[in-house]
Amino acid sequence: MFKTIAVVGAGTMGNGIAHVFAQYGYQVTLIDISQTALDKALQTIGKNLDRQVAKALLTEEQKSATLANLRTATEIATGVLQAQLVIEAATENTALKLQIFKQLDAAAPPDCILATNTSSISITQIAAATQRPGKVIGMHFMNPVPVMKLVEIINGYATEAAVTAQITELSKALGKVPAVVNDYPGFVANRILMPMINEAIYTLYEGVAGVQEIDTVMKLGMAHPMGPLQLADFIGLDVCLSILQVLHNGFGHPKYAPCPLLVNMVTAGKLGAKSGEGFYSYAAGRQLCSWQQRPDHQ
Ligand code: NAD
Repeated sequence: MFKTIAVVGAGTMGNGIAHVFAQYGYQVTLIDISQTALDKALQTIGKNLDRQVAKALLTEEQKSATLANLRTATEIATGVLQAQLVIEAATENTALKLQIFKQLDAAAPPDCILATNTSSISITQIAAATQRPGKVIGMHFMNPVPVMKLVEIINGYATEAAVTAQITELSKALGKVPAVVNDYPGFVANRILMPMINEAIYTLYEGVAGVQEIDTVMKLGMAHPMGPLQLADFIGLDVCLSILQVLHNGFGHPKYAPCPLLVNMVTAGKLGAKSGEGFYSYAAGRQLCSWQQRPDHQ
């Protein structure tokens, strides 16, 4: 089966995906156009492995073996030459992904499966940019990848059944639980999650309740580990907005229209934990206080 994997994009998701494959014994080449992103990804993987060792989830030997399975590259053309599977986890932008898949199609071996970790872009559209649409599939990991069990596997219109079966088995071999779904806007995860987050933002916007109250109701009342506004901050408000736009454009239904408060916050550069402020404020990614508790918002 699979031995050699390439991961394109070394950001939040790419480093987690590379980490998990390397930990389970696959030879991984992590590719990014930015050397800084690659250096940072290796640092993050090292820190996360240390945490697993401290929690006795891995031994020092397993940590060293994981690191030994990892290579990096800055060029797709050279990085995917030996790959049996490529997982693309570059920035969520349709034009960029179409261009990357054209490059992958030209450089990867003809029988190599091309998977994307996209949160919302059509797998069918990405597949149509290649000469091998039957071998293109969605392999949607959740953040943080080493911790979260789900892999949402998305069949494009042309994805071959044998490819779905291989990716399903591979997900299980990584200790994950696969769920196979079809290619419609937002797939399953974000089609259900994003309207909930949007409704939470509307609830704040209309003054029904404050940030803390909304998150407390959903945490304690629905047993969610995190409230929807805190979760939106961690996902990134720009990412939430772009997924809602995909749902709104894809279905043409007003129920998916992004809340004006979300649009305003993204326009103002308040993107959540990564920018230091969203519904809560953050220092070095750690939550300090909620938006409504800050004096300038009272
Ligand atoms: P990110 O911004 O953290 O990282 C993206 C990386 O892609 C950057 O390092 C960038 O340098 C690199 N990149 C850009 N263009 C490239 C190119 N041409 N070739 C190689 N690398 C390139 O993004 P992320 O949050 O890791 O998201 C990656 C993908 O995963 C997106 O499609 C996103 O929708 C999806 N996703 C994200 C999450 C999440 O919680 N962040 C969860 C599930 C899925």
